[in-house]
This record gives sequence, structure tokens and C-alpha cells, in this order.
Amino acid sequence: MNDDKVYIFDTTLRDGEQSAGIAFTREDKIEIAKQLAKLNVDIIEAGFPATSPGDLDAVASIAREVKGPVIAGLARAVPDDIDAAWEALKDAESPRIHVFLSTSDIHMAHQLRKNREDIIEMARAGVAQAKGYVSDVEFSPMDASRSDTDFVYQILEAAIEEGATTINIPDTVGYAIPEEFTAFIQSIYDNVANIHKARISVHCHNDLGMATANSIAGVLGGARQVEGAINGIGERAGNTSIEEVIMSIATRSDLMNVYTDVNHVELYPASKLVERLSGMQVQNNKAIVGRNAFRHSSGIHQDGVLKMRETYEIMSAESVGQPTGESIVLTKVSGRHGLSARLEDLGIDLETIDLDKVFVAFKDVADRKDEVDDRDLIAIISEHTSFDFDEVWTLDLVQVSTTDHGRPTATVRLIDSEGNIFEDAAVGEGPVDAIYNAVNRVTGAQNTLTEYSVKSVTEGINAQGEVTIRIETGSGSYMGRAADPDILVASTRAYIHAMNRALNDAGTL
Ligand SMILES: [Zn+2]
Repeated sequence: MNDDKVYIFDTTLRDGEQSAGIAFTREDKIEIAKQLAKLNVDIIEAGFPATSPGDLDAVASIAREVKGPVIAGLARAVPDDIDAAWEALKDAESPRIHVFLSTSDIHMAHQLRKNREDIIEMARAGVAQAKGYVSDVEFSPMDASRSDTDFVYQILEAAIEEGATTINIPDTVGYAIPEEFTAFIQSIYDNVANIHKARISVHCHNDLGMATANSIAGVLGGARQVEGAINGIGERAGNTSIEEVIMSIATRSDLMNVYTDVNHVELYPASKLVERLSGMQVQNNKAIVGRNAFRHSSGIHQDGVLKMRETYEIMSAESVGQPTGESIVLTKVSGRHGLSARLEDLGIDLETIDLDKVFVAFKDVADRKDEVDDRDLIAIISEHTSFDFDEVWTLDLVQVSTTDHGRPTATVRLIDSEGNIFEDAAVGEGPVDAIYNAVNRVTGAQNTLTEYSVKSVTEGINAQGEVTIRIETGSGSYMGRAADPDILVASTRAYIHAMNRALNDAGTL
């Protein structure tokens, strides 16, 4: 099975969510899965249903609601896990059970405490059980790149014999080097007798910064499925950035002679969505989706690009759906129609936002900042999705007084869901601390602020500041985000955003 198509397997919702500090809600997961379907990935790994009832429920919702891609659920090679995966996936249009089992000596001896014969038996039993539920079964020998290769060949052959249709080679700890990984994938064709009955997949991690390189090396060795996550989120240094693999294949199809079915212009919207819902910011110089990825600052480069773009660009911002700073179209006289048309151009699904609120926020920004460009619009959208989300508290007023002699003071006025108005004031170590203390006095909230960051959305002194925060409450970790030309206002709204998310989730803080 070695045709020219590379299948894209997105694991943002499973391995990606295993990043420290990321916790997607069920609604977040459905929203991301819908965007992945628009991106036209081939497989969405929606979760690991045996880990919690919440994860099972999220996978089941995606299986019911998201059509197009295959929906996969992860399971250890143990009966309860496989039953849970099937329970979650049974309503999917095209379900896949992904069975994994560790094969490296270090994992077998220390984590599983089993010998090789037992491990092969577990793999056989797991794949056979999954095969009883679905025809589409993937098998992964975890930590394959550090396993004895003869043993990997043996277990792959056994898994295929039991009906596995995809066999995945994970570089679980990000240890492989590209040449060696190409050779390893090639060697599977020579050493696994029934390999023609399955597709080879690769799953790399970025511990040495080589996840994309190793994934492409895998494709060059004959792999026809690549696993990864949007923005490369995931444990430690993360998973393969799937957008990098997709655009490498698109840009260097001359060398590789392979293709994907991905709708590239949905990459940037997918990146922004995952950034927003994960709270994990994309670095400016990130390939493909970073804000500087298509900006030229040296004079020679700018001159070259103006004369002919291809002089310094191997792909265009538009091809990955990234808005360019030049596309300034809206001002304060623009109407709702102009706004909604522009949002649709940006790939934003109007169903997922509250257009009235977005319009009010847009007018507010446009009043203070002459021109509102695409980056501003995306920042506004970040705060105003309407997904099953009640605003328990809304901000009516924030006022701060700061000084270099003493502590700043903040006054806030908030409105609750019944329209009651509350006002209070507090001091703090800095203006943001003062605001948060005042908000806590009004709401009686108990939580810890674990992350706070502010960055400018566009250039210039009147740029919007985008504030991203994370709070920990008794019930979990919640991200909040807001943008405003005044960073203290943005900080206040980001905090209220996070609190409202927490209140929606737990019913109490
Ligand atoms: Zn992984």
C-alpha cells in the first residue's frame, strides 16, 4: 500500500491536549474538530476514551457531530480500553480504534513488567478485539524508535495478521535522527512479510527539534500517514507541527512526489483557533503560522519581494490563509454586512460567534483605532464565541489609578446575569493585581492566576493589546483572552472571560 497520497492524522485533541497546562472543554473539542474537518484532514484522533467519562463523552460528541474525516479513539491493548473506545466511537460515520502497546525494553521491563511473548499476545488480543468492532484498526508499538527492531517487525506482523490496517511507528521520546528514521521505515518493507496489507504511519515528537524533519524522513522511507498536532502542541517539546508537514509536502512535491488532500487555506484559522482555546501562544517566528512567517524586514528582501514575490517567498501567506497586514478594509463607518463578509473571508464560521457582540466590540475598537485589520478582527473574535457559554458576569466599568509612590487602586463595576450591579475597589502590587483583587471582592471568586501575558496585535502606538491569562480553580484550569487598545481593560475582560468559563463548567468557583 504505497500510493502517492499522504494521509494526515491530527492528534491535537488527544496527544496535543496532553501538553502541560492545556485542558479543552467538550465544546472546545467539538469546535476544533469542526475546523479540522474544514481543513480536510483524513483522521481526527478525538481522545482517549478510557481515561475519563468526560473524555469518552467528548469523543462520542465528535463522533456524532463531525462528518467527513475518520474519527479515531486511542486505547491501550487491554479489554476495558477497547470497549470504551468503541462505546465512544460507535456513532461515527467512519470510526477507527487506535490500539497501542509499548515495545521498548525499558518500557516493557519498568512500566509494563512483561516479557516479549506476553507483549505479542497482548497486541494480538487487542487488535483482534478492536477488529471485532471496526474494520479500521491502527496499531502502535509505543517507543518503537528505541525498541529492538527485530521485535518491532515481529509485533507488526502479528498486528497485521490480526487485522490492523494502519501500523504506526512512534518516536515517542523524540530520539530519532532523520536518516536513521528513513532507513527504519524502509526496513519495515523488507522485514514484515504482510506489510502490503497495511499503511505505515509515523508519529514524531519534537524533543530534539526534529519532529517535522523525522516525519518527512518517514514519508521518504515509504510512510503514507503522518500524525501531528496543530501548532505542534503536545507533551514536553510537543508533537510534530502538522501544518509544517502539510506545507513541506505541498511545497516540495517536486522532490517527494506525494500529496495530501488538505485544504491549506484553513491552516491559519485552525492555528488561531487552537491557540485561542489552548491558551498556548504561537511564537512569532513559528513556521507557516507565526505572525512573522511571511514578513520581510531587511531592505534587500523587501525590495526583492515587491519586485517579484518568489525571490524570497517559497509559499504565500494567502495560501495558508494567513491575513497580511496590507488587507486593511474596515473603519468605523463599516457596517454589519461589511464586517460579516470580511469574517467569512477569514474562514470564521458565523454560526460559532455572536455577531451582535462582535459588531459592538468592532465599533468600539474602530472608534479608538482608525483602521481595523484582519489581525484585529481575529483578536476580537477570540473573545466572542457564543458556544454554549453564559456570561455570568459582564464588565460595566474599570478605573485604575497608578503612581510611582505607593500602590495602585482599581475600581470595578460588574453586572451579574440578572442585571444586578456591583461595585468595589481594591489596591494591589500593580494595576492588574489591583483590578483582579477588586473583581474578586465583587464576585467572591477564589482562584490562582497562573499565567498572564500581553502582546500587541498589530504595529503602532494605538495597537490593540491582547491579554491571555490562565486561572486555576478547584475544578480545573481556565484560559481567558481579550483584546483592547487599553491593556488594563483587556486584562480585566480576559479575567472575567476566564471566570465565566470556569463558572459555566463548574457552576461555582
Ligand atoms: Zn505522542
